[in-house]
Amino acid sequence: MRVSVDAALCTGHGRCYALAPQLFAPDDFGHCALVVGDGVVPNGLEEQARVGRDNCPEHAITISD
Ligand code: SF4
Repeated sequence: MRVSVDAALCTGHGRCYALAPQLFAPDDFGHCALVVGDGVVPNGLEEQARVGRDNCPEHAITISD
């Protein structure tokens, strides 16, 4: 599984890193930065990726296989 964040859509609500902090973190401006820089979701964190995607008000987070 891979996860990505569209920086052009992210407005820094922070829901992703509040709800799924093992995968998402704030950058210096409160926007979302991936904890895993290459976007590959570590085994066991798939649900965190889904939670982030499903709770982003801007639909900035996408998941692919
Ligand atoms: S929830 Fe969405 S808009 Fe908010 S910081 Fe995360 S990716 Fe950005």
